Amino acid sequence: AKELGRNHFRYYTQSLSERTDKRLKTDAALREALSLNQFSLHFQPIIDLTSCTVSHAEALIRWHHPEMGMVSPEYFIPLAEENGLIHEIGLWVLREACRCHKEWKSQGLDLQKISINVSSIQFQKANLADAFKTILEEEAMEAHRIDIEITERYLMDQTERNIHYLNTLKKAGHTITVDDFGVGYSSMSYMKRLPLDIIKIDRSFISDIPEDRNDIQISQAIISLSHNLGYKATAEGVEIVEQFNFLRETLCDYAQGYYFSPPVPAHHFITCVEQLNAR
Ligand code: C2E
Ligand code: CA
Ligand code: CA
Ligand code: CA
Repeated sequence: AKELGRNHFRYYTQSLSERTDKRLKTDAALREALSLNQFSLHFQPIIDLTSCTVSHAEALIRWHHPEMGMVSPEYFIPLAEENGLIHEIGLWVLREACRCHKEWKSQGLDLQKISINVSSIQFQKANLADAFKTILEEEAMEAHRIDIEITERYLMDQTERNIHYLNTLKKAGHTITVDDFGVGYSSMSYMKRLPLDIIKIDRSFISDIPEDRNDIQISQAIISLSHNLGYKATAEGVEIVEQFNFLRETLCDYAQGYYFSPPVPAHHFITCVEQLNAR
């Protein structure tokens, strides 16, 4: 038994140092990504379901690594959250979104706003709202042009503090979207206390429509909950015409997904909007 214990221990320390090694490499690579400009933003149009034209867009980060190629944000955002680089990355995202918005404007597209994803870790720094304000001033961008997406998971803990932070951002002029809604367990009374603008229904409730009766019921319930609380509703992951039609019939406000367009590089966005508005 003792022998086994020792072997176990050796195995454990070895894998731990291996893991540390891997993490240090990833940390360095992520740091390098920032300094060598390996990140970019892609933009996915969000459709206004009343007019069936493009309303705004969600910014989604991309990492082009020289050897690994495209690295998914689902892989590197959690790592950046662990090592703290998410703070710097998050500010880069805001600045880049402002720049793209201005660039499109100079080319004739005055987009209502861009939604950016803000990690709950970014809220742990007390001065997030100040840092955002500084960037907006430097980039001469109005706050209402930037919608802030936070996940429902974030809303469920640290209630009072979160309400305060969200109020600060809201007072500054930002709009707030709750992302991935329905997978957590927000209470109705809590939802009502939050300074929200849009509730984004999680993709998992959309993907099996029209086959899944439960998902139809759940989506309808979330849409009417949003409206009863005075918020708009967005559906994400819309891939087929049946989902699009269902959402229009259910009076959902906005939709995004491959049915309309995948996220596209900034320089393709104007063409993408023109094509969507013409169809
Ligand atoms: P999310 O915020 O829920 O973003 C939606 C994801 O769904 C995106 O994946 C998007 O490309 C994908 N998607 C869009 N339409 C469809 C569709 O019709 N079907 C399917 N199956 N998928 C669709 P992506 O770009 O790989 O991003 C993954 C996640 O990484 C995001 O999930 C978000 O949580 C995180 N992320 C991305 N960019 C940022 C960022 O700038 N900051 C932070 N903190 N997180 C980010
Ligand atoms: Ca999002
Ligand atoms: Ca989402
Ligand atoms: Ca389902």
